[in-house]
Amino acid sequence: MGIARCLGCLALHHNSAIGPHGHMAVSAMGHHANIIQQFRLGIGRRWLSSISWIPPEGHDTGVTLYNSAIKSKVPLKTIHPGLLTWYSCGPTVYDSAHIGHALSYVKFDIIRRILSRIFGLNVVMVVGITDIDDKIIKRAKELNVNFKEITELHEQEFFADMDRLRVLRPSLAPRVTEYVPHIISFVQGIIDRKLAYAVNDGSVYFDTKAYGRYGKMSPLDESLDMRGAGIKKSARDFALWKGAKGGEPSWDSPWGRGRPGWHIECSAMASHILGTQLDLHSGGIDLLFPHHENEEAQCCGYHGCHQWCNYWIHTGHLHTKGTEKMSKSLSNTIGIQALLEQHSVNTFRLFCLLSHYRNNVHGSSKGAPEADTLLSS
Ligand SMILES: [Zn+2]
Repeated sequence: MGIARCLGCLALHHNSAIGPHGHMAVSAMGHHANIIQQFRLGIGRRWLSSISWIPPEGHDTGVTLYNSAIKSKVPLKTIHPGLLTWYSCGPTVYDSAHIGHALSYVKFDIIRRILSRIFGLNVVMVVGITDIDDKIIKRAKELNVNFKEITELHEQEFFADMDRLRVLRPSLAPRVTEYVPHIISFVQGIIDRKLAYAVNDGSVYFDTKAYGRYGKMSPLDESLDMRGAGIKKSARDFALWKGAKGGEPSWDSPWGRGRPGWHIECSAMASHILGTQLDLHSGGIDLLFPHHENEEAQCCGYHGCHQWCNYWIHTGHLHTKGTEKMSKSLSNTIGIQALLEQHSVNTFRLFCLLSHYRNNVHGSSKGAPEADTLLSS
């Protein structure tokens, strides 16, 4: 396993001006070698079980990648030979995408192209579209329109922006509102396994204590005030189904009218399309906890397995000033249209290659001029 076979480094290796990443890769390789050595000595399983990740017994791809679930580089082995199933959390379509989103999707697009074109994997990528949630309902109320008018407009705009950025279209892009029956069935399955419970207002919560392995991807916040559970059994329990409030879009369910919780949608759609186990799951680093922790927990609960997704990859954030993340909630975003008025698509894509996909990127970076210079040299 040389540095050239490391997925995180591959994108960076074509230009020596890019920085000292080689040093980081060597040190990570040392750590990786240490894990392999532990396996040879027969202590790897015990060591890994302490962090609750099981190395898949699949088909070796020759790639190593950094798995966020284990915080280390590991060999990428797929469930099926030559096929990689990949689920990516997609946009919540209540507003326009900004360059923070662009950065993340372009970086994943580069990884996808490397896996398919250099390593010959048939990548099946599913990107979930969140077309019902609190922000969408709020925006529809503000504009006094049906929520579908908001979501259809911004979904179209999202894919038009991604086309402009030359991000390959996903194999499938399921919408939450078209999967409500599957989601209801998924929630019922978790209840049947006694890992979820309904409460008086028609909501259903995942029972983290009954599950018993909650927190396997991220250390739990021990300072969490457990008295703040309210109608839940534990403050850590999370909604699988939200009982309807007046005037909100809602669907019939065994627990009364309501709508899916955010976390369950990805699990139900990914499981329906890609099966009971997944090779790879991606998203921005802010999704690692609680969203991805919850996805893994509810899928393991539903499928009755110890590990649903084998590999997790996360991109860093785009910071505007200091450590402030570019985010719609902070009103500090720059739209993709505005970006492309100032820079070419190639400049932006090369800018994405100038930093490791896991690193945070600073908006004040000299990266764009550097990318321009590299392109013209
Ligand atoms: Zn998701």
